[in-house]
Amino acid sequence: MQLSSKEARIYVAGHRGLLGQAIVRHLRHEGFGRLILRTRAELDLRNQAEVQRFMAAERPDYIVLAAARVGGILANDTYPADFINDNLLIQNHVLQAAAAEQVSRLIFLGSTCIYPREAPQPIPETSLLTGPLEVTNRWYAVAKIAGVTQCQALRKQHGCDFVSLMATNLYGPGDNFDLATSHVLPALLRKFHEARVRGRRTVSVWGTGTPKREFLYSEDMADACLFALRIPESALYAMAPDGLLNVGTGTDISINELCDLLVRVVGFKGTIVHDRSKPDGTPRKLVDVSRMKALGWQASTPLKRGIEQTYAWYKTTENAC
Ligand code: GDP
Repeated sequence: MQLSSKEARIYVAGHRGLLGQAIVRHLRHEGFGRLILRTRAELDLRNQAEVQRFMAAERPDYIVLAAARVGGILANDTYPADFINDNLLIQNHVLQAAAAEQVSRLIFLGSTCIYPREAPQPIPETSLLTGPLEVTNRWYAVAKIAGVTQCQALRKQHGCDFVSLMATNLYGPGDNFDLATSHVLPALLRKFHEARVRGRRTVSVWGTGTPKREFLYSEDMADACLFALRIPESALYAMAPDGLLNVGTGTDISINELCDLLVRVVGFKGTIVHDRSKPDGTPRKLVDVSRMKALGWQASTPLKRGIEQTYAWYKTTENAC
């Protein structure tokens, strides 16, 4: 089944997550009516027998593997075993079952934290496995490296069309705003919002504020996933013989600069206090996006607009005070 047909059966694994929600919105908007979706309660991707049964019964034409255990710098440090175990199980089961069912294309979602801490900036895809990893998220990174490598192995041995997209720090409507497990952007958006509403004068920002991060709006990432599903196989692997495509905006900002932006969007009038007992993590992880650019894709949402849209969404949730 070609993706040009709206009858294509597309399984979005992880459709309740930040990216999965955005992908489903995009697919529906484009008229794909045969989406295959399962909640965690309906299908535990950590259970191999369940995954095999599901895949053999549903036989999707395409898969976007956006299901993963994800979290910010503290969550990675607090639950290292969950991060490595769950991700290895989920991806191993889905990739193997997808290979057995001979799906037309699978998109595996990786992350830019798979690259070495000291990789050249912007980081090209060819930096993979050329040096030691950042320690704060190596559990997650090692699992994702295994997934990327498994995609390469399945392509080499069985000809599977499994491509890996390396996303930079994603944010957007539907993000996780739990302060203990979230990434920096939603965490600080919430902290500034609560401080403004409750009249607090200070907000705690972890680390020194000097690390730089590249933030990509989840809707742009969803757009990149749909774009990647459609790239002709010959063009894709000519550009990415290793099956890796970085997806980012091409620019990064420091955590302090991010604070300036968030403060303006939220209207917080107080001051920032740096909590230096918390880790900085990797100093910088800007990715080289030239492969995706050469294939014809670029991010389109300016960071300020993306933050405004995320904040508008957040204020409608029951968690917002
Ligand atoms: P990372 O990109 O894997 O390091 O994950 P995060 O998004 O969790 O953190 C990015 C950077 O933001 C790190 O330097 C954190 O120390 C810093 N940061 C500052 N304040 C916060 C916060 O309230 N929550 C989180 N998660 N990170 C914060």
